[in-house]
Amino acid sequence: MRVAITFDVEHDCPPYLTTTRGMEEGLPRILDLLSEKGVKATFFFTAEMARRFPELVKRVIDEGHELGSHNYNHERLDRLNFDEGRRVIEKSLEVLRKFGDVVSFRAPNLQFPDEYYRVLEENKILVDSSKATYKGYRAGVKFFGNVLEVPASTTSSIIRLPWRIQRIIHSRLREPRVYFAHPWEFVPMQREKIRWDCRFNTGDKAVGLLGMLVDYYKRQGAEFLTMAEFYGEYGKLKRH
Ligand SMILES: [Zn+2]
Repeated sequence: MRVAITFDVEHDCPPYLTTTRGMEEGLPRILDLLSEKGVKATFFFTAEMARRFPELVKRVIDEGHELGSHNYNHERLDRLNFDEGRRVIEKSLEVLRKFGDVVSFRAPNLQFPDEYYRVLEENKILVDSSKATYKGYRAGVKFFGNVLEVPASTTSSIIRLPWRIQRIIHSRLREPRVYFAHPWEFVPMQREKIRWDCRFNTGDKAVGLLGMLVDYYKRQGAEFLTMAEFYGEYGKLKRH
């Protein structure tokens, strides 16, 4: 079984907040947990967070995880015209590639008009993970030009549900199972004026539940893949 754990690394709960508690406290806790469990993940950073927290980008890379792009400052591609969209994608890659290779992309809010596959391809991105099975995307893992789409399986709040409930959801997901979460979910958000689904079980509970998710798949002998590793596996099958 193939599983991917991914994080969209951004300021706290965009567009509602502008704080960065997730960066200061949440991301270090995620990295500590993954290192304790010996699991690799993909971290899609906004260039803005990478610029402000370069030591965290370095830690992600040094600990063997993959660095990907989550656009420049969390701009939604469905709300920009094509040239503006292209510009923010390219600007984000310019900043992120100063830290190391970047071959994967995830659009903010998982809003990714198909014409942008071409922009990713021109900018040497190999994997996109902006489509979402839970939003009705049904094509599975497939190539758009030379870009491999590896869709996200569930919305991030699923992995903060009580374990007994989420476990049933996991067992019903199609493979590959691609999860995503955000650093700000791993700090307490209960007192913020944001949507309820962004607040419940944030903080310590979320850290504990992420650990349970990893253990659940480890017990089943699952293979944890980064996005670049997905490309390595699927890329040989179907490249044209
Ligand atoms: Zn995001």
